[in-house]
Parts: sequence; C-alpha cells; structure tokens
Amino acid sequence: MDVKSGTPYWTIRHGLRQHSPRLATDATCDIAVIGAGITGALVADELARRGHGVIVLDACETGWGSTAASTALIQGELDTELIDLAKMHGHAAALLASRACTEAVEAIAGRFPAAPGSPAATSLYYGSRGRECEMLRHEYEFRRWMGLHVEWLEKEDLEGRYGLRARCAILSRPAALIDPYLATLDLLDAACRSGARVHARTRVASLRIGAREVCLRTVNARTVRAKQVVVATGYAAQLLLPAPIACNRSTYALVTNPIDDDASARVLEAIRHVLVWETARPYLYMRATSDGRLMIGGEDDEIDIPAKRDARVSTKARRLLRNVHRRFPDLRIDAAFCWAGTFAETADGLPYFGPHALTGDRIHYAMAYGGNGITFAWIGARLIADRIEGREHALAPLFGFARMQQRR
Ligand SMILES: Cc1cc2nc3c(=O)[nH]c(=O)nc-3n(C[C@H](O)[C@H](O)[C@H](O)COP(=O)(O)OP(=O)(O)OC[C@H]3O[C@@H](n4cnc5c(N)ncnc54)[C@H](O)[C@@H]3O)c2cc1C
Repeated sequence: MDVKSGTPYWTIRHGLRQHSPRLATDATCDIAVIGAGITGALVADELARRGHGVIVLDACETGWGSTAASTALIQGELDTELIDLAKMHGHAAALLASRACTEAVEAIAGRFPAAPGSPAATSLYYGSRGRECEMLRHEYEFRRWMGLHVEWLEKEDLEGRYGLRARCAILSRPAALIDPYLATLDLLDAACRSGARVHARTRVASLRIGAREVCLRTVNARTVRAKQVVVATGYAAQLLLPAPIACNRSTYALVTNPIDDDASARVLEAIRHVLVWETARPYLYMRATSDGRLMIGGEDDEIDIPAKRDARVSTKARRLLRNVHRRFPDLRIDAAFCWAGTFAETADGLPYFGPHALTGDRIHYAMAYGGNGITFAWIGARLIADRIEGREHALAPLFGFARMQQRR
C-alpha cells in the first residue's frame, strides 16, 4: 500500500538512517510485530522492555511508511470534541480516554524531549466563525468541568500573543512536538537493546493461526513462528478484517523555507512551542520545526488512490499557504517541500487495539487511526502488552473491537 507522495520533510532531512537486515533464516519468538512504523516501534519497545522475545518485520525500510509523512503534533485533545465523545460513549468513557491521552502526551514529551530548557508545548484550537465559537465555548466549559488544563482566549489575545486572526480559541496543555522518524528509530534501537530483532525489507505474505502458535510466511520464503502476533501495518491492517473499520483519506502537508524576515520571525517565535489547529473541518494545522521552519498541514479529502493524491500535492500546498496567510497576515512564507499521506478516520475518532473475534486471541491489531495516531499508539502499545500478559487495560473495552458491536 502506497501511503505517501511527494517529498515528506523527514525523509529529506534525515535520509535513510537505519539499515536493518532482511530476515535471512527461519526464526521463532514470543511475539512477532508486523510493521516498523511508529506504532510497531512503540509496541516492540514496550514488549521487549517487559522481557518478551520480539521480532519486528517490515516490508519496506523502518519508519518509512506514513510515519515519515507525519507532522507529529502530539496532542491530548481528540479529533472528536470531548462533548461529542461523551454523547457517543458516556461521560466516564470520554474522561477515561481524555485522561489517558493527556498522560500519553506527558510520557511522549518526557521520552522525546525538545531542546533542553525549552518551555512545555501547548495546543491552540481556534475557531473563526460565530457558530464554531459557540461550539468551542461549550467544549471549553465541558473540558474545564472535566478538570482539564484549558484557557479561553479571545480575538485580542490571539492577535496580541500570536499574530493570529481568529475569533476565539482554547489553549490546552500538555502537548508535544516530535520528529516521528527519529523517534521511531530510537524506539527500535531501544527495543533491540532489550533483546528484540528488527528486519526490514521482509514483507509478511501470509499468516497461519495454529492452536499453539502463529506461523508467518515472508515473501522471501522465510518462516517466523510466534506465540502472539501484533499487526502494526498502519492503514494496510484493515485488509485483514472482514469489513473496513475506518475510511482512508488523504491529508496534505508542506514545510516552509527557514524563516528569516523580522515580522515572520516574531510570529515563529510566538508559536515555536504551540501546536495550532482549528475547528473547521477539514482543519488547518501547523507547528514549528527545530530548524526554524513552519510545517503546515490539512486540506484533507476522501481520495484513496495514490496517483490522484500525487496529482493534488502542489495545488493543495498553495491552498494551505493561502489559508495560513489569511490567519497570520504578518507571515511571509513559501513552501520548500510538500507531500501527502494516507490516514484513516474511524466513526468516533477512536483507534482499535487488541484481538478481533475473527482471528482469535493470538493476533493483536494496533490500528492507531485518526489525527492523534501517535498519542493513540503510545496507549495502544501498553494496552496490547497488558493483554498479552493476561491483564485488561482500563481502555481495552473502549479502544477494542467490542465497541463496534455495541454501537450496532
Ligand atoms: C501527513 C500526515 C500528518 C499526520 N499528522 C499527525 C499528527 O500531527 N499527529 C499524530 O498523532 N498523527 C499524525 N498523523 C498520523 C500518524 O502519522 C500515524 O498515526 C502514524 O504514523 C501511523 O504509524 P503506523 O506505524 O501505524 O503506520 P506506518 O508508519 O504506515 O507503518 C506501517 C508499516 O507497516 C509496514 N507493512 C505494511 N504491510 C506489511 C506487511 N505485509 N509485512 C510487513 N510490513 C508491512 C509498512 O512498510 C510500514 O512501514 C499524520 C499522518 C499523515 C499522513
């Protein structure tokens, strides 16, 4: 599955950094993790740290799937407003999900700290039209009532603090900014130090589930026997299920040239540690990079055909720049690199982690879908590890396939 087009910034910035060997011989392990994107890397790190024997297999290079295209804004806020999530699943479940995401963001920020001494990041969720501001105000009240760290900002605050033209916003913490490619490699290295093995360019062609083990067959005709398997193949994971559980979409992104004029530099300084996004759907989002650029994303659409997505990259980049100029009139920016990537959206904005009734208890899916994929993947890694060890994580019912049946 081709999950990205154009020239994602992280691939340009870092090139191929890790050279994991192809699997050359048959192998056995406690747990095979299929997929070495950030989700598979988080799962492998967690399992290996807990003492399990892990083998990671990736069809391509490690971290080179949609992870390399990610803009990697790490937020505790969900794509679905908390107020709506509470309507769908109840207040207790919404609070549980929100708290878990907040804790995950704190943990991610601790694991991948920005430059020493830099302030903690915040997330700025702005609204522009009257109706959106009304909705945003309700969401703000609800989050406050739930005990979350939120601040309400009016038009003047936004203009004065950030040079942003919008009517209102919720400022929340915690938030974090990471480099998703380096984070993935770092996690895989950590997993290897705990005894895991990582094999790139080793596509899993089939899996056979037996009474005592699962037998994986790779395209280069090697066999891996594992007691348990974690499927962390990103958006391709859906292909193993009887029916899709999410809709694939395309999202577009660009990174600017380094900012050097004074007026733009002032804006960049003001939002250097702020993740900016909006209530409109599809939303515009942006963040700073450590080398003085802005990374901007959005313009999501329903395209799921790589060639069509490729063809749209430059038009979408122009639109993203136009939208940013409208919101931040002081910014003088141009695109250095632009790209697009696939992502998947579930009906309620929540991910799916754990076994599916169709494939039994030995196969665990790690489907960190949605705009918060990385935050979800952090939680999912712990949820799956707990399940493998025979414990139920508090979020297993809400983040598992069981909720699909409940909603029918
Ligand atoms: C443009 C863009 C912006 C985003 N912005 C954000 C953001 O700001 N914040 C956020 O939290 N999330 C964001 N996301 C989502 C986030 O990037 C994803 O949730 C995350 O990268 C998914 O990682 P993954 O490891 O699940 O999938 P992938 O990175 O796609 O990894 C899956 C891996 O599985 C391998 N694979 C597939 N099939 C097989 C097979 N048969 N055998 C072996 N290996 C196989 C692939 O080669 C691949 O390496 C964004 C996504 C995109 C595209």
